[in-house]
Amino acid sequence: MFTLDEQSRMVEKMVRQWCETKLAPRIPALEAGLEPPFPLMRDMAKTFGLAAMAEAAVKKRIARLRAAEADPATTVKAHGPDEGGGVGGALGGEPMMMAVFIKELSRVSPGFAMGWGVSMGLAGGAVLQKGTADQVERWALPLVTVDKIGSWCLTEPGAGSDAFGSMVTTARPLGDDPAAGYVLKGSKTFITNGPGADLFVVYARIDRGEPREQQGVGTFVLEKGMPGFTVGPPFKKMGMRDSPTSEIFFDDVRVGGEHLLGGREKGRAGRADTKESLGNERSGIPAMAWGIIERCYDQSVQYVRDRKQFGRAIGAFQAVQLKIADLYLKLRTVENVVFRLAWMQKAKVHDSAFVNASKAQCSQMAVEAAMTAVQIHGGYGYMEEFHIEKLARDAKLLELGAGTTDINLLSAARTLIGEEALG
Ligand SMILES: Cc1cc2nc3c(=O)[nH]c(=O)nc-3n(C[C@H](O)[C@H](O)[C@H](O)COP(=O)(O)OP(=O)(O)OC[C@H]3O[C@@H](n4cnc5c(N)ncnc54)[C@H](O)[C@@H]3O)c2cc1C
Repeated sequence: MFTLDEQSRMVEKMVRQWCETKLAPRIPALEAGLEPPFPLMRDMAKTFGLAAMAEAAVKKRIARLRAAEADPATTVKAHGPDEGGGVGGALGGEPMMMAVFIKELSRVSPGFAMGWGVSMGLAGGAVLQKGTADQVERWALPLVTVDKIGSWCLTEPGAGSDAFGSMVTTARPLGDDPAAGYVLKGSKTFITNGPGADLFVVYARIDRGEPREQQGVGTFVLEKGMPGFTVGPPFKKMGMRDSPTSEIFFDDVRVGGEHLLGGREKGRAGRADTKESLGNERSGIPAMAWGIIERCYDQSVQYVRDRKQFGRAIGAFQAVQLKIADLYLKLRTVENVVFRLAWMQKAKVHDSAFVNASKAQCSQMAVEAAMTAVQIHGGYGYMEEFHIEKLARDAKLLELGAGTTDINLLSAARTLIGEEALG
């Protein structure tokens, strides 16, 4: 039997209160693009001590990395058990508590949850997991303390699902030694936090003149304001409007070797770093779906009790009852997936087919649940005031971001059947 422990319940209660008092009132201004979400992220990190917890964990990691770098022959391991998950031990590195946190944010604003997850988890996590001690200190530390905001940049105008095969952004080495530096050229699109981010984790082909298919992929950290690096205006979107998104452009951006994450080129193995980050992102999406569905369920149950038509509460009509049962089933199904993902993270169980397939399934259920909730609320469900329409708009992104539903399912299927059998 899966159930939340007392600490997670406490997190749930405190975050719900913060969301209701601090986040919910700002949604109209955030959605209209009148203010950025970043000051609220800082407030949240401070309120819950996330920054301090993450900072302590990241400092331990830096010390461990320095020891390993100083004496590579020793048995000091660069990765230790005390550093928690992708966000460097915020919430004590407890995956279920982090999932509850994301759930609560997503009940009110999946867009806000996404922006925070991209900065802390994706950008911060990539530097934390792959950076040298100096890089972790310079870039991961300010990201996890939310002093700086990060973006994670893979998608290009012509390279979405085929992110590597069609990637045209290149990093041209300035010498044989990575320390000589690189010149980046190209662009990325659909970049969450793009307008306003301070740090950008950017994936680029390392072009040493060999055929495209033999080129490796490098991960670079770029800083706002570097010469030749520009950010486009925020896109107007269907949903996730409280999460600013833009294009970014590299017009011969010259970077020193210290901007190459890990400090060395990994050839084609560099793609694995991206896949690892994508796996982390996909693991977080069911928690967002959980929040969306839970809010749809809670609000719908209350609504069918209160709303009267034909002289009775609409909950008395069987067609409405079926919809409530359907929402409940989706809620418990997604919740169970989140429990399993948290268990996998804690027990270090690697099951990429489950991560991919469950991300797809939970996202689909979130979209269906939000649409069902709109239907239950009738015309009121279509009105901004009732909040469900925002959840419906935001939910759709879960089926697109971090790989589309079809791509996630195909990925899971390939793993299950076995790449070797597929030729
Ligand atoms: C709001 C928002 C925020 C985002 N944030 C980020 C971000 O921060 N960083 C980042 O790097 N990216 C980000 N993305 C990009 C996102 O990851 C991509 O949109 C996604 O990977 C899909 O790529 P695409 O949009 O180019 O679609 P395409 O790849 O062009 O796909 C179009 C359609 O074709 C289907 N398709 C494509 N190939 C196949 C195939 N082989 N088999 C079957 N079907 C296929 C897809 O399933 C889809 O239905 C964001 C996107 C959005 C909308």
